[in-house]
Amino acid sequence: MMTAISQNLTAIQTHITQAALTAGRAPDEVQLVAVSKTIAAEDIRRAIESGVTVLGENYIQEARAKFEQLSALPAAWHFIGHLQTNKAKYAVRQFDLIHTVDSSRVAKAINREAAKIDKIQKILIQVNISKEETKLGIETEKVAELAEEIVQLDHLRLKGLMTMPPFFNAPEKVRPFFRRLRDTRDQLRQRNLPGVDLTELSMGMTGDFEVAIAEGATLVRIGTAIFGERA
Ligand SMILES: *Cc1c(COP(=O)(O)O)cnc(C)c1O
Repeated sequence: MMTAISQNLTAIQTHITQAALTAGRAPDEVQLVAVSKTIAAEDIRRAIESGVTVLGENYIQEARAKFEQLSALPAAWHFIGHLQTNKAKYAVRQFDLIHTVDSSRVAKAINREAAKIDKIQKILIQVNISKEETKLGIETEKVAELAEEIVQLDHLRLKGLMTMPPFFNAPEKVRPFFRRLRDTRDQLRQRNLPGVDLTELSMGMTGDFEVAIAEGATLVRIGTAIFGERA
């Protein structure tokens, strides 16, 4: 039986492919991260059975409960919420990629926990492109300094940048922010930091992922369009 989730996924994958081709990009450069915060384990299982390979979770506590039920399934897990240093231990044990590193304090906490279990933890730097006080992330001007620090930490691998734009469901208003994230990444690349390839740009959600893909997104974080409105 076709479930709503599998139908939604088919539609989104089609839109991702079209957006990539329109931008002159290869569709397989864009990875769907299915954002499953507040979604029950049963629905996440359906999504994985329908072809989702990467899940995104925002809260450590909530994610831990789901892992107990879903850890045997073939999916990677990304952490996309605000990380408190006292939760770094769990983040490192359960997540393949942490999108939201925005301070050297958090980077060091992750590095310390990764060292304990002999893991190289992949991370992204979360950038506050819009400088809104309420938004998380490090200011654009400080990204390079944080990246230089991260390179010194043996158990971290910096893979790219992530951002949350200041508007939702207003694709043309957010385009400049996506473009600035890509520019910030391109500038950082010129530093040729050792062991850093900066391939990933995590940007774009349900309301704006097509614009994000046009501007270079490699990871689109989509919840509502897959699972429906959150309760
Ligand atoms: C909830 C969330 C998303 C998904 O948002 P939708 O509009 O439901 O697609 C993406 N990224 C982050 C960081 C989120 O917290």
